[in-house]
Amino acid sequence: MLLYNTSKRSKEEFVPGQPGKVKMYACGPTVYDYFHIGNARAFVTFDVLRRYFEYRGYEVDYVQNITDIDDKIIARSLEEKVPFQQIADKYAQAFLDDSAALGIKKPNHQPRATEVLTDIISAIQALVEKGFAYEVAGDVYFDTGALPEYGSLSGKKRDEQLPGARITENPKKRNPADFTLWKASKPGEPVWQSPWGEGRPGWHTECVVMGQKFLGDNFDIHGGGIDLVFPHHENELAQALALTGKPLANYWMHNGFLNIDGDKMSKSLDNFFTARDILEKHSAEAIRFFFLSKHYRSPIDFNPQIIEESERAVHNFHEALRSIAFGKISAEADGSFAEQEKAFIEAMDDDLNTARALAVLFELTRSVKNEQLPREKREQAALMLVKLGRVLGFFADLESKLSEQVPDLSRQLIELLLDYRKQARQNKDWALSDRIRDDLAALGVEIRDTPQGCEWKIK
Ligand code: AMP
Ligand code: ZN
Repeated sequence: MLLYNTSKRSKEEFVPGQPGKVKMYACGPTVYDYFHIGNARAFVTFDVLRRYFEYRGYEVDYVQNITDIDDKIIARSLEEKVPFQQIADKYAQAFLDDSAALGIKKPNHQPRATEVLTDIISAIQALVEKGFAYEVAGDVYFDTGALPEYGSLSGKKRDEQLPGARITENPKKRNPADFTLWKASKPGEPVWQSPWGEGRPGWHTECVVMGQKFLGDNFDIHGGGIDLVFPHHENELAQALALTGKPLANYWMHNGFLNIDGDKMSKSLDNFFTARDILEKHSAEAIRFFFLSKHYRSPIDFNPQIIEESERAVHNFHEALRSIAFGKISAEADGSFAEQEKAFIEAMDDDLNTARALAVLFELTRSVKNEQLPREKREQAALMLVKLGRVLGFFADLESKLSEQVPDLSRQLIELLLDYRKQARQNKDWALSDRIRDDLAALGVEIRDTPQGCEWKIK
């Protein structure tokens, strides 16, 4: 399997550290608000990677952190005048709920930064002792000048290593690229006790500590959106190298941006839609289909019309399965459509080419619907469609999806009976007309004759 490794700037054969096992970490949300569908793209990308490894028989240990100590959470709590913890708890729960609603499989571990404070403090102490970090007035900084490998992940040279134009120069730092490991707290901010006084950890330390705690000093994959390569992941790697001499992860994977009108969707640009809002109008499967229709590293443009198209594509899968009453088939998979499965694997093995993998699902859908084929063949196509679709995270609630047609059918049957009643009235068969009305009423369907025709409603 080939995966694009950001640190090598090329696709590489994936070789796990331990045969048959995959240890992966993906950066989770900072919980100060509901997450937007740009974030959702990152979460779904790594969910699909995890599912694909599992399908290929790997035992996967997947960690996704929850950043619950951060400037933005503090700012929100001051703004809303509610305790910091309350903001973090509210949006951490919303994150779990919305992830589940998006059909994202629960990671094996979802640690929160507040749960690993002791480990964070020990890691910072070790960095100070090893000469990779220094304290200035209650703040602790990582000394990037002490680590020759600094910049190796992002490929940034010394003069390019500025954390961001908006960050004003801090005279306490030895080098502008030095980053905060521990921050002395200001009045009114939440505090934790440390050898450097009251303060709180920096984001880059939170993530590296959670990764190492659950997956060890060197694991297989570290992922996140492309915006995290520098400085976040560069800084995580720097701390790991300084602490253990080992690269934190062997493969660094990054998803491209979800854009809106050409700009990255983000809270700061205020051009975002929360996943929660989009889920009110669209199915989780359509959102997933939309993400997967593009390669995960390419930028993707969001607009409601594309989600509509995705909705139709997903509907087409369900319609095919309904057309052969998938819920009732008892056939076992007999190895048919192995060629399609092979094509699916080839696509996914090529750095998760989900667009090509979806094309295989379309081909199977056409076979399911093809009335020229014997029914057994169509059933086999359906079994393969569902098997491969589930690898991409579709068809989780297939039973309810397949039965969704029932209300539609009820409506059609009511209309049909009303048509018969109209005929009866034209034939002046009042007894039959009344019987239809009364029988429908007994079932809870109330009808009313109006000059425009017969209207009905459910009582
Ligand atoms: P945050 O809560 O900002 O740390 O983001 C959580 C995850 O979403 C990270 O992996 C980010 O890189 C990713 N992310 C943020 N904005 C976007 C976007 N517009 N498109 C794709 N991924 C994003
Ligand atoms: Zn992170």
